[in-house]
Amino acid sequence: MNPLSLLPSVDRLLSAATVSSLIDLHGRAIVTGVVREVLGAAREAVKQGGAMPSEDALITRVGAGVTAKTTPKLRPVFNLTGTVLHTNLGRAPLPEEAVQALIAAARSPCALEYDIASGGRGDRDSVVDELLCELTGAEAATVVNNNAAAVFLLLNTLAQKKEVIVSRGELIEIGGAFRVPDIMSRAGAKLVEVGTTNRTHLRDFAENLGPRTAMLMKVHASNYAIHGFTHAVPEAELAALAHQNNLPFVVDLGSGTLSDLSAYGLPHEPTPREAIAAGADLVTFSGDKLLGGPQAGLLVGRRDLIARIKKNPLKRALRVGKLTLAALEAVLALYRDPDRLHLRVTAVRQLTRPEVEIRAAAERLLPTLKNALAGLPVTAEIVALKSQIGSGSLPVDRLPSAGFSIRPQGRKGGVLNRIEAALRALPKPVIGRIEDGALLLDLRCLEPDEETAFAAALAGLEVGRC
Ligand SMILES: *Cc1c(COP(=O)(O)O)cnc(C)c1O
Repeated sequence: MNPLSLLPSVDRLLSAATVSSLIDLHGRAIVTGVVREVLGAAREAVKQGGAMPSEDALITRVGAGVTAKTTPKLRPVFNLTGTVLHTNLGRAPLPEEAVQALIAAARSPCALEYDIASGGRGDRDSVVDELLCELTGAEAATVVNNNAAAVFLLLNTLAQKKEVIVSRGELIEIGGAFRVPDIMSRAGAKLVEVGTTNRTHLRDFAENLGPRTAMLMKVHASNYAIHGFTHAVPEAELAALAHQNNLPFVVDLGSGTLSDLSAYGLPHEPTPREAIAAGADLVTFSGDKLLGGPQAGLLVGRRDLIARIKKNPLKRALRVGKLTLAALEAVLALYRDPDRLHLRVTAVRQLTRPEVEIRAAAERLLPTLKNALAGLPVTAEIVALKSQIGSGSLPVDRLPSAGFSIRPQGRKGGVLNRIEAALRALPKPVIGRIEDGALLLDLRCLEPDEETAFAAALAGLEVGRC
């Protein structure tokens, strides 16, 4: 007799009690597909001489297959990496005001390009442009998909087939994919690098001006710093040189916070207002770095230049949707009250969270962690940590923080990888980092109202055997 005929039929598996409850949850189509896959794989395995699986084993595989297919890919996680604006984890978490605005805009039609006062057609930039001007001192503003798009659109509009003069020390790469020279050539502009890596002077710019020069550009070297014998030309001097030659001076600020975060003990990061006050004609910055909003690229500056940028057909290809604008408007509105930013803008709150508060959270949670790890050959303790701001903002500065260090008791580190994998396998994955032979969980970004959920998650931790 052919052993394959002993495998249950598709219909038989579909009528098993656990499988039919999966159908109720997820629908017949998905479950039937998984049942076929499981039976197909079992048939192959048996043909290769494997043992005949029991019906219960097949049903378990169907359950696992359906779970794998129906779990959303974009899952919320606990960011305990110690990097607040973690690009791979979606950068800034949005404040509640922005979440509510986003939901409202998602759920119903909204006045995206409709002027409610006149009943006529509107402009989607008008959702935020007044706020952006108020907060930066600029004449006009526009919004695109991200700061890379903002820089690209600016160059393509104002410097196509022309030259852009940039200091050699500012030809940066951000996150592997954004390189100033590459963006420049894709935008159709010719890069003229001047000065040296560590020192660039005003005369380097002046000597390279020519009939094809479109603009002078400054790129904020967000993610690295050079120390020692260095010189960069101040923005006001570059602006003056550009204006003497009837050229615009543009600044890619990268992060761009709208309020001086040094008031909260963070290092000073240049603001768009400062760049505009120094004479910049256009400034670009990200929505989801220090600003703490949704992914977006913000362009602010001279009215005539913004008008030209908005007329570029590529603006249409790079524009943002209503969800972004809804969240951005809500976050910008919070900046009108700078005294309470550190309470209301989630990213700012996490960046300014005092170390003592983080340590107190660690003390509350340590017993739960120790319970979860009981029986494993590791020691867990509270340690002082240094968090990073992330996303290339303020690269050399570290924020004093606290969290857990989990170390193997013996020499073998394999147990750390198992714990790290178990933390990632939780329904809301916990993402830490392994450094110098220890698994570190930095508690800076664990919001106080998430502590209970985090403790419950730890209680469910199941560390696999090696
Ligand atoms: C981050 C950054 C960019 C890219 O911004 P995205 O919003 O990630 O597209 C460009 N320039 C500088 C200086 C940056 O720091």
